[in-house]
Amino acid sequence: MTLKVYNVLSRSKEEFIPLTPGVVKMYACGITVSGDAHIGHAYQSVVFDVITRYLQYLGYAVKYVRNYTDVDDKIIANAARAGADPIAFAEKYMAQTDTEMDALGNARPTIMARATMCIDDIINFVQKLIDSGHAYVSPYGDVYFKLDSFAEYGKLSHIQVDKNDTGVRKDTEPGKQNDLDFALWKSAKPGEIAWKSPWGMGRPGWHIECSAMNMKYLGDQIDIHGGGRDLVFPHHENEIAQTESVTGKQFAKYWIHCGLVKVNGQKMSKSLGNGILLKDVLAKFDADTIRFALLRNTYSADIDITDSLLPESRKHIYKMYSACATVMARDFADADVAKTDAKITEIVGEFERAMNDNFNTLEVIAAAFGWFNFINTELAKKSTAYDLKRIAGKIVELFSVLNILQKNPVDYVNDIKENVLAKSGLTVGDIKKSIDERLIAKQNKDWATADRVRADLLAHGIVLKDTPNGTTWDIDL
Ligand SMILES: [Zn+2]
Repeated sequence: MTLKVYNVLSRSKEEFIPLTPGVVKMYACGITVSGDAHIGHAYQSVVFDVITRYLQYLGYAVKYVRNYTDVDDKIIANAARAGADPIAFAEKYMAQTDTEMDALGNARPTIMARATMCIDDIINFVQKLIDSGHAYVSPYGDVYFKLDSFAEYGKLSHIQVDKNDTGVRKDTEPGKQNDLDFALWKSAKPGEIAWKSPWGMGRPGWHIECSAMNMKYLGDQIDIHGGGRDLVFPHHENEIAQTESVTGKQFAKYWIHCGLVKVNGQKMSKSLGNGILLKDVLAKFDADTIRFALLRNTYSADIDITDSLLPESRKHIYKMYSACATVMARDFADADVAKTDAKITEIVGEFERAMNDNFNTLEVIAAAFGWFNFINTELAKKSTAYDLKRIAGKIVELFSVLNILQKNPVDYVNDIKENVLAKSGLTVGDIKKSIDERLIAKQNKDWATADRVRADLLAHGIVLKDTPNGTTWDIDL
């Protein structure tokens, strides 16, 4: 089985063959730290975290670079509004975002790049573009990329731009030769944060930072360039134009874009006021639940955060951990080794088939429902031929690629149970007393009392299960 990835550049699924055998160089555009991280940032970060983990599972050494845009118009404006220094403002949100991404279970990228830490690299890059005739300096100290100097412009987004259009928006960007040219370097407005350059005081444009950071940390060519789908045009198109104009080589071999986040079917936007901040989600749900919700989707599709998505995910995660906890408490010494091996081979096959098909985590989770159904069915039998401990152990190992189910299942289940009990005001002793009361009522054929006891517990979030070995209780999430 080989890994196939959907390459936005060719608009087709291609076999994944890195430039250097055994090594993957990946860059994903990160966050502009102008405020709190939202669920869209979380989605993109989780997607590229899982892609990294799967490439590592396949045995690749992955060098993953992710950037923070820590200077731009919005950061400057928001910092000014807060009466803060823009760099200190950006640093505050970078630190906060790092903490939140850790809490979400994302591994830190190999390199966390920052635009303001690469100013010299950016200036050198811009100078190379000027020297080779791909860029020009305006009379106002701005530098623009000369779009008609790059013949392949549009090859990623497949957008046809009219390169003969010479309408210039003189009001917003005076000194531009062509309306389509884009800024590489912006001259400083009075009082604005600025760095010294051959063209006067100023700061980098957004697109150039990614080209410069790619070259600095990963070289002329990379295997995978990622980001959200909203970055295809113009950001990634501009990155290609900048980098390939300097190197004369293909920049990224595979372009991977994840979908956008919707909230209850609507686009998430400031104006609609339906934004979901990551810190608010983390306050209500654990990382397993959030990752499960975000990964129960094909990454390239948009994801709809409905009101029921996270509560539903929590139920699924609880059931999976519960099954693992039950398995851990049982002994499978008499299990059939060959039958168990065959089941494990089947599970690994399903997992790798799904992940090799363009990192299809939706398919993995669908398969996992089947695996846990199997475990629960076997657990309900008087005896099983399978070593469920080994099978559950393998599932947990595979799920390390999603970084889900990696906690101690007994602790996880107990924590949630304790939470529900604390909210209900009941103790384990109260529940046992109710179970006994119901048993006596049933023996006396007093069905009304038996039903009332069950209903009372359910109203407190406790569900009773009658099994051949007696009545057990669980929480009803
Ligand atoms: Zn970028």
